[in-house]
Amino acid sequence: MTEMKANRSQPMIILGLVALVVILFWLLVGKYASSNGSGADGIRVISEDGNFTSSKTNYHWKMVTTWPKNFPGLGSAATNFSRLVDEMSEGRLTVSVYGAGELVPALGVFDAVSSGSVEAGHGAAYYWKGKNTATQFFTAIPFGMNAQEMNGWLYYGGGMELWREIYEPFNIVPFAAGNTGIQMAGWFNKQINTMDDIKGLKMRIPGLGGEVWNRAGGSSINIPGGELYTALQTGVIDATEWVGPYNDLALGFYQVADYYYYPGWHETGSTLELIVNKDAFNALPKDLQAIVETASRMANQDMLDEFTGRNNTALQELINTHDVDVRPIPKAVLLELEEIAHQIYFEEAEKNPDFKRVYRAYKTFQENVKTYHKVSEQAYYELRD
Ligand code: CA
Repeated sequence: MTEMKANRSQPMIILGLVALVVILFWLLVGKYASSNGSGADGIRVISEDGNFTSSKTNYHWKMVTTWPKNFPGLGSAATNFSRLVDEMSEGRLTVSVYGAGELVPALGVFDAVSSGSVEAGHGAAYYWKGKNTATQFFTAIPFGMNAQEMNGWLYYGGGMELWREIYEPFNIVPFAAGNTGIQMAGWFNKQINTMDDIKGLKMRIPGLGGEVWNRAGGSSINIPGGELYTALQTGVIDATEWVGPYNDLALGFYQVADYYYYPGWHETGSTLELIVNKDAFNALPKDLQAIVETASRMANQDMLDEFTGRNNTALQELINTHDVDVRPIPKAVLLELEEIAHQIYFEEAEKNPDFKRVYRAYKTFQENVKTYHKVSEQAYYELRD
């Protein structure tokens, strides 16, 4: 009690000093206060020599996504990115995340970012094959590279440069921002024993995998994740692929499908994307641009780590708790699907020079990395089994 009495005047002195500092600060720099219009506001600080030294401008971005908000696994990349950017920039760049359908429909994300009606989006490049079929290489192609190889190609093999070239006409800067690792082949209400079993089978399977499926006699459609359970339950589709055990368990597909097939021949290591409107990106100072780049790379690796960490326990739960019938697609069927895939790549390359250019680069890297992985990753997988 006596101590408190003795110190009673201290808080008043501190408050007075703080008020004085604040008043002096506003007298000195207040006249430079400025607003930079939509998406940005704040003040600029001048140095002793009278030059602007650091921008204290704050930026607010809206990010639309192709996933339901806070969707496990896929959706967490967007919220991770937003949190990281906020923390690293000390709030100078904030990103509000909107789930599918909140501002724009799931498959309206690309157009919204391209037009600048929002600054950023999170989704998957193969959803935009209607814009340019070459976009599909930046998510996954059937019988393509795995996650580790995709990252090697994107960051050290020229893949990212090609991706940015392909998105340039849309005024969009892409970043890798998540990887699922190899997916599962999907949930089926019919057994797949021969190629004949694919005939007429309605499956949700996007991208080039969907084209392979059609050519094999099936019927592919693309439906956003949030609508898949009902589509499978009501028989609108006979089968769906989604991601892997962790995500698929969360969506409850085991309740509405009989068989869970592997491996994910159609998505062997799918990269998800952060897309940023080019004007919005260029408007950022260099340090905030570096923060966007760094946070996307963190989100990219973090998703792969999360799936690796959680898929195995989810698979155990599907098998042991929910009695899911997990089956391999027969090798003869996979080999035929692979042949169809290569036919489609060849034909598409003849139609679209961008597809040809990206395919060549992708294929060259894939062949080279495959040679190396035969004596490294693959040799070790075989050894430990
Ligand atoms: Ca998928």
